Amino acid sequence: MSSAPRPPDWRRPRQLRREGFDGTLTLVGDEPYLPYDRPPLSKQLLTGGWDADHLSLRTPADIDALDLDLRLDTAATGLDLEDRAVALADCSTLPYDGLIIATGVRPRRLPGEGAHVLRTLDDALDLRDGLSPA
Ligand SMILES: Cc1cc2nc3c(=O)[nH]c(=O)nc-3n(C[C@H](O)[C@H](O)[C@H](O)COP(=O)(O)OP(=O)(O)OC[C@H]3O[C@@H](n4cnc5c(N)ncnc54)[C@H](O)[C@@H]3O)c2cc1C
Repeated sequence: MSSAPRPPDWRRPRQLRREGFDGTLTLVGDEPYLPYDRPPLSKQLLTGGWDADHLSLRTPADIDALDLDLRLDTAATGLDLEDRAVALADCSTLPYDGLIIATGVRPRRLPGEGAHVLRTLDDALDLRDGLSPA
């Protein structure tokens, strides 16, 4: 099982399949989107040059080819190292033989009006909407 659909870790399931691993591969991420590229969030997407479809790192066909159990929009909420299981926000439990944790960092959100955070696709779309002339 691998957590979080970010670029470097997204390559890992593909590598495992290429190496001949034919067991179950589960990818858990708390965002609702297929893996996407983050750098354009603060560049091409924000300036309006690209839309969100441009950011996608894999097509649905790529994902089908990997035979992944893809759990999007699902946060991992706990880890039981002894029983080798990850708890998910939907109250299910995911057993694992091998685990990659790639949860990145969480930005510190400042209180008050006018402070924006730009980390996710949703952040970027909100900011772009806010910057657009009414
Ligand atoms: C706006 C922006 C611009 C950037 N521009 C550049 C650039 O120009 N050049 C460059 O080299 N890099 C750039 N980066 C950085 C780069 O794209 C990647 O974000 C970085 O390399 C990987 O970040 P990370 O390891 O923190 O993981 P993240 O990218 O943060 O991915 C972690 C994922 O895990 C998910 N997650 C976290 N906790 C849980 C949980 N409990 N359960 C399930 N899922 C969870 C998160 O929602 C997220 O989807 C940029 C990043 C951003 C946000």
